[in-house]
Amino acid sequence: MKQTNFVSPEELTIQDGFTSRVLRMNAAYTAQSGENRRAYVDCYGCQQNEADAEILHGLLRRMGYQDAENEHDADVVLINTCAIREHAEARVLGNIGALSHDKRRRPDMIIGVCGCMPQQPHMSEKLKKSFPYVDLVFGTHAVYKLPELLYTALTEKKRVFSTENSDGRIAEGLPVVRREREKAWVSIMYGCNNFCTYCVVPYVRGRERSRDPERVLDEVRGLVSNGYRDITLLGQNVNSYGNDRENGMRFPELLRRIDAIDGDYVIRFMTSHPKDATPELIDVIASSRHCAHGIHLPVQSGSDRILKLMNRRYTVGKYLELIDYARAHIPDLVITSDIIVGFPGETEEDFQETLDLIEYVRYDSLFTFLYSPRVGTPAASMEDPATLEEKQARFNRLLEAQNRISRQIHEGYIGKTLRLRLDDLKPCPGYALSARTDGGRLVHVDAPESLRRTVADVFIERASTYALFGKVTESGT
Ligand code: SF4
Repeated sequence: MKQTNFVSPEELTIQDGFTSRVLRMNAAYTAQSGENRRAYVDCYGCQQNEADAEILHGLLRRMGYQDAENEHDADVVLINTCAIREHAEARVLGNIGALSHDKRRRPDMIIGVCGCMPQQPHMSEKLKKSFPYVDLVFGTHAVYKLPELLYTALTEKKRVFSTENSDGRIAEGLPVVRREREKAWVSIMYGCNNFCTYCVVPYVRGRERSRDPERVLDEVRGLVSNGYRDITLLGQNVNSYGNDRENGMRFPELLRRIDAIDGDYVIRFMTSHPKDATPELIDVIASSRHCAHGIHLPVQSGSDRILKLMNRRYTVGKYLELIDYARAHIPDLVITSDIIVGFPGETEEDFQETLDLIEYVRYDSLFTFLYSPRVGTPAASMEDPATLEEKQARFNRLLEAQNRISRQIHEGYIGKTLRLRLDDLKPCPGYALSARTDGGRLVHVDAPESLRRTVADVFIERASTYALFGKVTESGT
């Protein structure tokens, strides 16, 4: 078994040196002009990307950059990109294109593109050739090297590329600026070994590597003692946590240890690959004090034939066994999932099996996607006779069925009173506050803003496909 690789303390010290140099440059600029240099991080994609963006933000602050209001107002703009779908890439390229006007106006501005997109060789090439005003291009493996890359771009006035392909390493102790005051992401592992045939993640984020459990526990302890109430453990497949370490602690045990930390907080995790999620995991959730009663278990298809083509390595039968076990042990468990419609070779029969599966499971909500071919993945070269119209029609049928199920589940809450933390401001006319149930369901709450960040009893008056609506009956702590 390969041992997880870490970025060495010596390498991190070298980066600290570059941080100090940029910090001095920025201080000199402020002394001369009376103004501060500002930076902006724009982020696309998944929670892992958001967690990386919080580190990039932390590194920029440490180098003396203040926060810019938006990308047009910044001296340094970093665009943290997503490669999971063609649509996301097109959006990012459009936004990079829009920055060319800013660059013409302010040639000293540094534009950086990072994350999953440039980690793909064809995209890195495209950025090099078609976007000559992008100064800095680096992949997911080079986040910790931002100080050095930025210093080079600033002082040598040349374009800097760092997109080497690697299995990836773990850099501990990087600064983080968390976007929210009470919610936090904690990455417990990085990368993926699964190579689902439609997915680029293993190519752009490297092999699975798990953080040391003591570092994870320390981080969670620190968050809890600093008032964070909602902590989400992140990994492309949290259920394979520890598999890359000799005698490593596995995910259910890590969860148990985290749950033993005293405090007023909820713990969530994502994402769970169904092939690795076990009854033991369900048992830990059932007996925990802090685990939210919600699980995201991406099934992707209800057809064994398609699951095989996707290289998912579970069958519908195995998946449903776990669902049944979970429902039997945690009756109020909120289950959500992902489904890809129109995978190459999907027939009407395959799709019907997906519809049957969602009627059986009755997910609270689904993230539904139309299959999008990704360069370099095996699925991109599979035969795909179905037309886009057929796929779109299936997609609409799936959405219709799921919307009906979600609405019915939500209507079951009407007349109930839930004890909720009112800690979010989500715009909804007539409802000043919002909250999430234990299982992650959105609740719009009619309550004064003064009750934000308190716990209150909320009476559910109505429901829609996407949310519950209620009013506070009694405020608490
Ligand atoms: S488990 Fe499959 S879908 Fe998820 S990141 Fe890994 S390869 Fe992609």
